[in-house]
Amino acid sequence: MEKKAFVTKDMVENIVKKYPTPFHIYDEKGIRENAKALKEAFSWNKGYKEFFAVKATPNPFILKILHEYGCGTDCSSYTELMLSDACDIRGEDIMFSSNDTPAEEFEYAAKLGAIINLDDFTHINFLEKTIGYIPETISCRFNPGGYFSIANSIMDNPGDSKYGFTKDQMFEGFKVLKEKGAKKFGIHSFLASNTVTNEYYPTLARQLFELAVELRDKTGADIKFINLSGGIGIPYRPDQEPNDIKVIGEGVRKAFEEILVPAGMGDVAIYTELGRFMLAPYGHLVTKALHEKHTHKEYIGVDACAANLMRPAMYGAYHHITVLGKENAPCDHTYDITGSLCENNDKFAIDRQLPKIDLGDYLVIHDTGAHGFAMGYNYNGRLWSSELLLKEDGSVQLIRRAQEPKDYFATFDCFPIYEKLKNK
Ligand SMILES: *Cc1c(COP(=O)(O)O)cnc(C)c1O
Repeated sequence: MEKKAFVTKDMVENIVKKYPTPFHIYDEKGIRENAKALKEAFSWNKGYKEFFAVKATPNPFILKILHEYGCGTDCSSYTELMLSDACDIRGEDIMFSSNDTPAEEFEYAAKLGAIINLDDFTHINFLEKTIGYIPETISCRFNPGGYFSIANSIMDNPGDSKYGFTKDQMFEGFKVLKEKGAKKFGIHSFLASNTVTNEYYPTLARQLFELAVELRDKTGADIKFINLSGGIGIPYRPDQEPNDIKVIGEGVRKAFEEILVPAGMGDVAIYTELGRFMLAPYGHLVTKALHEKHTHKEYIGVDACAANLMRPAMYGAYHHITVLGKENAPCDHTYDITGSLCENNDKFAIDRQLPKIDLGDYLVIHDTGAHGFAMGYNYNGRLWSSELLLKEDGSVQLIRRAQEPKDYFATFDCFPIYEKLKNK
């Protein structure tokens, strides 16, 4: 599929008059249409709910747009809970899916009335000790171990992942929780990440539905929801076929009707905690070509760096690049596109075929709407960029200003940098 930027050169030339590069920009129209399509794909399920994985794009403006489509939040830390709380998203609109959880985070989640999704059997006692009771509604995260395969091809390796209860622990856990007063149960599992196949959710659903029937039969637990979590991916590469959310929804429905309905569990709600699928395609990192360098290779240095988008440096992830204004020019140059970090892995692209890039050209790095800005860090004293929202009417709203040196130095109460500089 051809990858087209949702901004043009003219638009960016206008935007930079007010908000200089680099910046992340999000496409409100795309976000809304996708959220609507997801909701429709699962509308067959009465209790269906998406809990947006806040870690993917922790911005209140984004959370509020998604909330309009019935999305709650999936939080896993204190500050993510604070964000949700500040957006007036509370109670059972929050799924608290954390691991290695500090006591004060369980306390805050309980205070907000969030649904707590336990990552480990030992967390049952830890939670009870921490908040003094076991909530009526409780969820447990399942990890079957081994490999997760679809049609004989290995998708991921849950046996090597730190998350979740084993199958035996799920049975024991539900029993213990029930004794301690839990009344409504949920099952959660996340077995493969960034899947670009319509089969992931239906395959996972089948496993969880079968487990749910067994759990109900053996423990008598009243299972209210099954949380398929995240993992639906997006086509980062132009040659990948995008997922079809309608087909995915229908695949889950088929499994539901084959397994849960005959078991008398047709009122179970389906929950999801998608992050990447909700936001990734609707974000661009826009950056400007600052330098060209001809040594052993051809380099273009841009004004963004891995501190603004870590995925290429961290995972070798592919992010498509469009040179604005040269969308139709032949890709007859081979470049490494680099940032300024003193780290040789600070490259947005390696040996990428692109049109000839001139200094001052604007580059769009695609699919940065999820796990993009959010993974930003301050290595080398590099600062976070701004975040902008391209509204449906074509206007642009600042939804987070760029970091300034004062923000970077803000935690030096013990060594007031600005006071020192004044004396020079
Ligand atoms: C990261 C995460 C998600 C979202 O994953 P995506 O790959 O962005 O869909 C959902 N649930 C949990 C518990 C996660 O850790």
